Amino acid sequence: MSGCEELSEKERRHKERTRKHKAVVDAKIAAATIDKGLVLVLTGNGKGKSSSAFGMVARMLGYGRTAAVFQFIKGKEDVGERAFLSRQAGVIWENCGEGFTWETQDLRRDIATARAGWKKARQALADPSISLVVLDELTYLVNYRYLSLDEVLPPIRDRPEMQHVVITGRAAHADLIDLADTVSAIRDEKHAFRAGVRAQQGIDL
Ligand code: ATP
Ligand code: MG
Repeated sequence: MSGCEELSEKERRHKERTRKHKAVVDAKIAAATIDKGLVLVLTGNGKGKSSSAFGMVARMLGYGRTAAVFQFIKGKEDVGERAFLSRQAGVIWENCGEGFTWETQDLRRDIATARAGWKKARQALADPSISLVVLDELTYLVNYRYLSLDEVLPPIRDRPEMQHVVITGRAAHADLIDLADTVSAIRDEKHAFRAGVRAQQGIDL
């Protein structure tokens, strides 16, 4: 067999394989016909949870739709996502946190801040004009018991039919995972911080 014949046999088999693959993928795409508001949980110890949520905010704005972001823990206000996104038309931005407990060292205030934040988030979760609600670092409020699951789950479950919700934070409670349609647990394989690199603008904040 000449080199040319060998190549054309390889090409033929490649074409056949990719044709079969395409048929399988096309059938799966054709079978997915439902449109609905989703709950996404982005959890795990790896980097990429909140930044992924902000990516979805950008996507939503690209369609001229509205997004509401609730940052429950974030103490620092001068972060890149806030500087950019809070200025865009169609964005509601609420900072409802004053930092982690070890920074504030005031449990009573942390609980009051969390509850005030949740009250505002509940309004967004009842507003059908908001296409995407980001509950950034919500998992900690549940894990620290600042908010009970009985307070958190119903407003998410009963939200407008087409509204999407993204919940971020480590160690998501099993009930949040149960409620979600899509769950990603981001694994921490390596982080530059452990090599002594401080948080970098545009990457970490
Ligand atoms: P990002 O906002 O970058 O998507 P994240 O939401 O997944 O990160 P958080 O636990 O909320 O992660 O932490 C936010 C900050 O801490 C970011 O600056 C991020 O780079 C950093 N960070 C995230 N994971 C780790 C880690 N495993 N070790 C050290 N720093 C981390
Ligand atoms: Mg985060």
